[in-house]
Order: sequence, then C-alpha cells, then structure tokens
Amino acid sequence: MTEGCVFCRIVAGSSPAEIAYEDDAVIAFKDIYPKAPVHLLIIPKRHIESLAQLERGDAELVGRCLHVARLLGEQTGYADRGYRVTCHCGPDGGQIVYHLHFHFTAGRRR
Ligand code: 5GP
Ligand code: ZN
Repeated sequence: MTEGCVFCRIVAGSSPAEIAYEDDAVIAFKDIYPKAPVHLLIIPKRHIESLAQLERGDAELVGRCLHVARLLGEQTGYADRGYRVTCHCGPDGGQIVYHLHFHFTAGRRR
C-alpha cells in the first residue's frame, strides 16, 4: 500500500468502491465518474505508478489485467459488441491517478 494513493486504499478496502472483479493480483471496480454506460477500472493490486514505471517482470501482471478485460466483456454482456480498453500515461496522457489502471468502457462508440 502506497500512502496517499486512492486506488491502494480501494485495494485495502479502506475506501469504498463497487467491485466488479477481484482475484489475488487484480481488482476491477466502477469508475466514480463514468464516461460511458459501462465504465470500470482494472488495476493491479500492487502499486505501480504508470506504464512508464513498468519493469520487464511486470509483463505477466499487465497481461492478467488485460485478461480481466476479456472477463468483464463477458460479465457485462459486451463481449460481442465490443468495448474499449485505454490507459492514460503521464501528464500529457491525461493521467490523474498515479496507480496503473486500465479503463474498460462499453456501450458507446466513442
Ligand atoms: P486517469 O488517471 O486514467 O486519467 O483517470 C482516473 C480515473 O479514476 C477517472 O476516470 C476518475 O473518475 C477515476 N477515479 C478517481 N478517483 C476515484 C475514486 O476514488 N474511486 C473510483 N471508483 N474512481 C476514481
Ligand atoms: Zn496505489
């Protein structure tokens, strides 16, 4: 747990979130300000600041996050229609929360 990190607090259960999926390494929950009919955030439980801090050894963890996107597609009923998985990295990438996360959005084209 990294002090002051809102997503670490969600992982620890000390901040509320609507959890959509959880396993030993990954958790997914509803974005507090949804920008699409379905808007979930998929995060590794371990604090990694952003894509820019990824180490070679983190590759499996990131793969697991993307596999959770597949599961959420099925869970939300959007597997066939499709969905979008995005990651904001750094100030110019629009990153606001510095705990690596993937947005899962569905239900609209853009
Ligand atoms: P990003 O860093 O990818 O630009 O955006 C962070 C995302 O996290 C935003 O879509 C924002 O609505 C969401 N967010 C920020 N704080 C919280 C929070 O405390 N709980 C939840 N569920 N989502 C949050
Ligand atoms: Zn964190």
